[in-house]
Amino acid sequence: MSFAKASSRRDFLKSGALAGIGAAVLPVGRTLGEIRSSSVMPKAGPIAISSRNGQRSVLKAIEMIQSGADALDAVIAGVNIVEEDPKDMSVGYGGLPNEAGAVQLDSCVMHGPSCRAGGVAALEGIKTPSKVAKLVLDRSDHVLLVGLGAQRFAQMHGFKIEDLLTDRARERWVEWKEGLSNRDDYLPPHSMEDKDIGENIEDLERHWGTIHCSAIDLAGNISGVTTTSGLAFKIPGRVGDSPIIGAGCYVDNEVGAAGSTGRGEANLENLCSFLIVERMRMGDSPEQACLYACERIASHTKLARLLDDEDRPNFTVSFYALNKAGEVGGAQIWGGRGQFAVADANGGRLVEMAYLYARTTMR
Ligand code: ASP
Repeated sequence: MSFAKASSRRDFLKSGALAGIGAAVLPVGRTLGEIRSSSVMPKAGPIAISSRNGQRSVLKAIEMIQSGADALDAVIAGVNIVEEDPKDMSVGYGGLPNEAGAVQLDSCVMHGPSCRAGGVAALEGIKTPSKVAKLVLDRSDHVLLVGLGAQRFAQMHGFKIEDLLTDRARERWVEWKEGLSNRDDYLPPHSMEDKDIGENIEDLERHWGTIHCSAIDLAGNISGVTTTSGLAFKIPGRVGDSPIIGAGCYVDNEVGAAGSTGRGEANLENLCSFLIVERMRMGDSPEQACLYACERIASHTKLARLLDDEDRPNFTVSFYALNKAGEVGGAQIWGGRGQFAVADANGGRLVEMAYLYARTTMR
């Protein structure tokens, strides 16, 4: 089974991997009102979804699920591929460091059938924070461990501490340090109306990146994982949305799963993965629920420095969801080029994401 190498959706559509797949895909760029009444074709598991950078992950997850694996073990093994890849600068080994040059990783996992969760934040020295998050779930009475405590816990269970800063990531960090101006995350005192304060997100090639993966296994059980090196060059100790249950990932075995990538601060203030699962519980399709979360963030963004000239957020967040029936969907605040990865027994495909606003120059 393969996920055809595709640089664009069109290339991917040409590949054989799509043959025979009943895709639960909705057209992009539709408003929430337009799509609320539409229906998507239910398709039971096994199925796995992830952010676009998880094309290898969803295939791995499906391969394991077809051999009888639990969905949580499958999605973790899937994201481990990206965590261990030194070329991916947004997750695990090779991830871009914080302001001080330390790679600090965030991850959480959630297991649908047992309703349990585990997470680690600001974890240094271990390539696969998702495995440590699972260890927190399995071998402690806690849900979230951070920093040195998380590292010591992992060491106690045999994880080796390694240097995660690759030369490529270090060189990017040095370049950023040498170009410092207002391009950091410290803010002087300011008011709600101050616009030109701190970094101008819109103008910056600020590096965001994360992988979320969730799946339904052969038993119909649902689990999810999100893992990241977080915002590049962040203030040391900064924790994003990725390791926070309800923000970066949430699963309800009777409803579905959701996860996120993008500006974690906006998601932390709105707990969108939980929101998306609750919207699906109320009857939204995965795509409708993801779009609802985008609208929630947009309506809750009040600070002038985070708004463009038309009072829209000047940042983006992306959401991915699947429901108990195997329907999938994704949406982002700024879109037009966004896709997410899906795999089932027939292979992998990329699916276009819905969006609130059409992207012009923004990532
Ligand atoms: N959501 C992640 C964070 O805020 C970053 C990302 O997805 O790009 O840490």
